[in-house]
Amino acid sequence: MNEHDMEKMASILVDGGNERITAIDGADVVIVNTCCVREKAEQKFYSLMGRLRIIKKRQGLLLGVTGCIAQMEKEQIMDRLPFIDFSLGPSSIHRINEAISSAAAKKTFLDFSDNGCTTPFLVKPLDPKGSIKTFVTIMKGCNNFCSYCIVPYVRGREASRESRDILEEIQGLAQKGLKEVTLLGQNVNSYNKGKDDLPFPALLEAINRIDGIERIRFVTSHPKDLSPDLIDCFGRLEKLCEHIHLPFQSGSDKVLRLMNRGYTAGEYVDRLNRLRERSPGIAITADCIVGFPGEDEKAFEDTMELVEKIGFDGIFSFVYSPRKYTAASTLPDEVPRDIGFNRLARLQGLQKSITIRKNRAFEGKQVEVLVENVSKNSEEDLMGRTRTNKIVNFRGDRDMIGTLVRVGIVKGYANSLKGEKLEIEGGIIC
Ligand code: SAH
Ligand code: SF4
Repeated sequence: MNEHDMEKMASILVDGGNERITAIDGADVVIVNTCCVREKAEQKFYSLMGRLRIIKKRQGLLLGVTGCIAQMEKEQIMDRLPFIDFSLGPSSIHRINEAISSAAAKKTFLDFSDNGCTTPFLVKPLDPKGSIKTFVTIMKGCNNFCSYCIVPYVRGREASRESRDILEEIQGLAQKGLKEVTLLGQNVNSYNKGKDDLPFPALLEAINRIDGIERIRFVTSHPKDLSPDLIDCFGRLEKLCEHIHLPFQSGSDKVLRLMNRGYTAGEYVDRLNRLRERSPGIAITADCIVGFPGEDEKAFEDTMELVEKIGFDGIFSFVYSPRKYTAASTLPDEVPRDIGFNRLARLQGLQKSITIRKNRAFEGKQVEVLVENVSKNSEEDLMGRTRTNKIVNFRGDRDMIGTLVRVGIVKGYANSLKGEKLEIEGGIIC
């Protein structure tokens, strides 16, 4: 989401007559876009700002801060970083050129206004990823208030973008030759909830009808909004890829209650079972937090059991990090950091073995790959993704980039698959 926000800012900046450069030497303006979901990101940000302060002095450049830390700190950011020239919250990125002009005139520019502002919806990203795939924001904000999470405080309440605008944008992308769109939102499957516009499954159906688009994905979903209508879209809409990212956060009902997630572990498993009945080979990935206050050894074992039972294709796992404003930051029964990190290592070890097992099961199978780029492993190899979002590296010509090809999988690793392009002769794959 942050990367996408940066592309949107880049597009406004270029429209405003600026040029994007990759090296800091020679830059007139440096903008640091921030995340505050976990404390580590915040610590990294402040240490980077210490280094940038020195460069600013030397080079005389303008320095600005955008994103979630800006929104969290608001005007107080000037107490901690008095040397910055401007700061904007996520709902104000459309004012970035104004911020720079004001700073150039030696007037500090700050805007952390209305989180309900939907103007940023109208800003298109600068670089739709080499014109093969891109993100399209369809909603922003979150109403869920999971007890550990700062997002509702810095990204505001849920607001959905009009379906007409979204469809128009995707039609334009298809005309430019883009093949894949990922619909983006903090809580993407609650799109248009309670609003008199297309509900999420109907939006997917309308995108499925757009010529030129070959693949549709969406991220991130909340289990409570995984409706029967949405489950029914899988397998029915041929462009909707067989992958869902569905964070479970914990396998313990006690911890899920403390997290205010609104479902039990059993309900989560039931929903995934229904999804798997509908779309048997669907890949499932998730987020999970360990070391949440009140997570005893039994609760952590419940998480390990759930991970084993579901057999996720991959999970992003984190040690709980207390955040300002959130309800969980005042909870008793904190878990010591070393126990949290030990549990994280155990969970990641288990998941790694499951991922390798699942990736090895692809060996000998054929998959459809959308070729995205030259592989990072070798100049002679290409890199693409399966519909289930697995990375595949295989030998091939660069003119295949942007096309769909059939690949035979010869090896499954922890993070990717190795494949061989299948030749088609007279319509028969040999
Ligand atoms: N809107 C998305 C993403 C939220 S942030 C969603 O609801 O899934 C991404 C992930 O960061 C979360 O899913 C959660 O696993 C993790 N996270 C959020 N707050 C955290 C915290 N305080 N400590 C540790 N991990 C956290
Ligand atoms: Fe945060 Fe929960 Fe909202 Fe996701 S659903 S953004 S974890 S409050």
